[in-house]
Amino acid sequence: MSDTLVVETKRLSRHFGRIKAVDGVDLGVRAGETYGLLGPNGSGKTTLIRLLVGLLKPTAGEARVLGRVMPNKEVLSVVGYMTQAEALYLDLTVWENLVFFGRIYGGASHSRLRELLELVELGQRADSVVATLSGGMRRRLSLACALVHNPVLLLLDEPTVGIDPQLRVTFWQHFYKLNEQGVTIIVSSHVMDEAEHCHRLGLMRDGRLLAEGSAEELRQGSGTSTLEEAFLAYIRGSGELG
Ligand code: ADP
Ligand code: MG
Repeated sequence: MSDTLVVETKRLSRHFGRIKAVDGVDLGVRAGETYGLLGPNGSGKTTLIRLLVGLLKPTAGEARVLGRVMPNKEVLSVVGYMTQAEALYLDLTVWENLVFFGRIYGGASHSRLRELLELVELGQRADSVVATLSGGMRRRLSLACALVHNPVLLLLDEPTVGIDPQLRVTFWQHFYKLNEQGVTIIVSSHVMDEAEHCHRLGLMRDGRLLAEGSAEELRQGSGTSTLEEAFLAYIRGSGELG
């Protein structure tokens, strides 16, 4: 991990009418770090991630990825994005989906695609039509598709929802490996039990970043023994903010 900021936002906001989905977020994520965005449904995690990918424009403030203000097409070529709802072609096979995403990003080698299939344990299902796969298998394929172009920044929106505990462990082992290779990961979750895997966490609520730090720092900072309690403590303490 280095001190270089791969992602930096300043007072980043995105409003939908009256809804302040993201509301003045200052975020700094370092190279090689896994940063967890934690917050209940509707707290703005997906909107924040979409701002970072450049799929949405801010209402106010700015988001920079690798020093460039987003949206920026060049930066997109080094960003991997796994959406919360699968963006897969249901009537294509597993292999055809991978090849398709590989081509969008300028062509990934056959061996790279095979390696990714093995990684997500779908080596035996290459010829299966995606519509016939279980939800967990589709999540795994989505992850593989987000990795075809060896991104330096990986944005994962609730990646482990719907996958079994064993594969979850495998996912995290792979995320660690990517970190070691210098890949920066931002991962969102509405459950706390995966937070310990992240170097740092940002607790989100109503579009705001309530608190930031490692799981241990957040517990200590709020004088609580679990992250759930810490979260509640920060929400109570945030009354004057909102
Ligand atoms: P999370 O991912 O944490 O569940 P979201 O970013 O999806 O939160 O949503 C944050 C808030 O913004 C919610 O109130 C949601 O209804 C609203 N929102 C998100 N996208 C849109 C949109 N395209 N149009 C209107 N409201 C939206
Ligand atoms: Mg979401």
